[in-house]
Amino acid sequence: MTDVIHMGVAHRALVFKPWFTKFISVLYNTVGIYVNPTTWVNRHRHHHVFSDHLGDPNKLAEDGFWKTMYLCLLPYNCGSNLANDDILKSLSMKIISTPAYAVFSQFASFMLVWLVVQNWMYALTLWIGVRAIALWVNMIQNYWSHDRRFGSRRYPDDEDNAMNLCEWLPVTATFSACLQNNHHHYPSFLRTSHDPNQYDFGLMTVRWFKQLGIVQTSSTGARLPQGVNLERSGL
Ligand SMILES: [Zn+2]
Repeated sequence: MTDVIHMGVAHRALVFKPWFTKFISVLYNTVGIYVNPTTWVNRHRHHHVFSDHLGDPNKLAEDGFWKTMYLCLLPYNCGSNLANDDILKSLSMKIISTPAYAVFSQFASFMLVWLVVQNWMYALTLWIGVRAIALWVNMIQNYWSHDRRFGSRRYPDDEDNAMNLCEWLPVTATFSACLQNNHHHYPSFLRTSHDPNQYDFGLMTVRWFKQLGIVQTSSTGARLPQGVNLERSGL
């Protein structure tokens, strides 16, 4: 979802095959963890416009740990609709973006685990455990990499609180989305690492998709921004 919905749909930095975007979205929202792609793209674009200020649905600068965790589940409302992409108007994406599908997804994903382990208590523990890990990943992006007490800043003059967490664990867990200072400085660039020596798990996965012929770069995604310590986009 980080590669496809975030860099592919929300930022248009990567051009995935439309069938793949729809397939992975339906699959993830049926047997995985439900994330409404339409409202997520809308919220994410608001997050970039208003980062850490009024209008950011994820977190305001003064919001603490528990408030941000609450907002991961029930974010602030968005002031407008910034998600009018054609792919979000396709039938499959419209179906999975309905409240009814959000409810269905909870049962479908639990039933899959239950069918595998054949024990409802064990299945429920796994089902909740995976969602707890997903919440931790979401908190890395929304809280720890948006608080100036943590991480570092490659672009110190930016007015938001976006930070770069460069350690291997958050980079792997978030597919490099924890390099928020870099990403907020150049949101349409196809990668979030701006240094060839930075470990970038997200870029590695996009390279695998490229080898499979599923993704290519967009004109904006491949454009090398000024100030990055790179000679090419790397894809
Ligand atoms: Zn973004």
